Amino acid sequence: MQKSILIIYTGGTIGMINIPGKKSLTPFDFEQIRRHVPEIEKFGHRFEAVTIHPVVDSSNIKPDTWVSIAKLIKENYSEYDGFIVLHGTDTMSFSASALSFMLEDLAKPVIFTGAQLPVSTLRSDARENLISSIEIAAADKDGVPMVPEVCIYFEFKLFRGNRTTKHNAEDFNAFLSPNYPTLAESGVHLKYHARRILKKDRDASLKIHTRLDNNIAILKIFPGISEYTLDAILGTKGLKAVILETFGAGNAPTDPWFYEKLKTANDAGIIFLNITQCTQGSVEMGRYETSEHLIKAGILSGFDSTPEAAITKLMFLLGQELSHEEIKLLLNKSLNGEITIS
Ligand code: ASP
Repeated sequence: MQKSILIIYTGGTIGMINIPGKKSLTPFDFEQIRRHVPEIEKFGHRFEAVTIHPVVDSSNIKPDTWVSIAKLIKENYSEYDGFIVLHGTDTMSFSASALSFMLEDLAKPVIFTGAQLPVSTLRSDARENLISSIEIAAADKDGVPMVPEVCIYFEFKLFRGNRTTKHNAEDFNAFLSPNYPTLAESGVHLKYHARRILKKDRDASLKIHTRLDNNIAILKIFPGISEYTLDAILGTKGLKAVILETFGAGNAPTDPWFYEKLKTANDAGIIFLNITQCTQGSVEMGRYETSEHLIKAGILSGFDSTPEAAITKLMFLLGQELSHEEIKLLLNKSLNGEITIS
């Protein structure tokens, strides 16, 4: 059956070219992607493409781009069966995580993809990534989309977007989903794992949230961290929340000054979320003595959240008209499958 797919192009390596006289790669327009992957016409689907200008290397993605993507999806929601976002890999996990929170009651696929090599190069991974993403965005079972979530498709794997992190700058398999299994894999067949995919209410209509608050900081602790570093971060103008990247299962130094400063800031209204520096596993405060003081200081567990999901979830929650207590309550819940709460 013919499907309608909207491709939203933001930039990234997939569409980059070498401009004569310049050594580095520069993002270029969508038409050259279409030219290099003429196979997409064989699907027989209806494709439209929109470009968010200026096209950027994803290191230049800002929350404004997420708002533009959310608005484009909302405006075109009834007209298309699925959406593909072409995006640089460097910050793709941030964008996919942010969109998973901004698109409430999403019931259609939004598939982020890109490439590690420009589409114009012979060995590019762009073709496979784009073609399989289209197939996934168009896939349905009895008229119901197979994957009604914000995902990343890359190198034969479909991931829940807010579970991903970019872990490899060299290999084609750039992404990991360390704490949640893949939603589908592409081999001879595209194999979907229906039980891992979110179930959505088909009758609810899509709502978008476009207010995000970036008054947050991330503090990665290390042996020997000084009071000055902590003071500098806690003294950030306008600061509302801090993600504490701790050791192992959520542990941190027990020095009295460390505890006192966190407790004082927490009492003054700053929200602290504890996530682990380990790629895999979850924070479990209270398992070791070295995390008991964090509980006493009022710090919340970020469970097995990726840093990308923790940052964008906080930006999203702080941007809503919610009380401090409501935000804390929602941080302890999985909004769109971003954390595992046992
Ligand atoms: N620097 C590029 C970007 O994130 C890398 C890529 O797309 O793979 O835009």
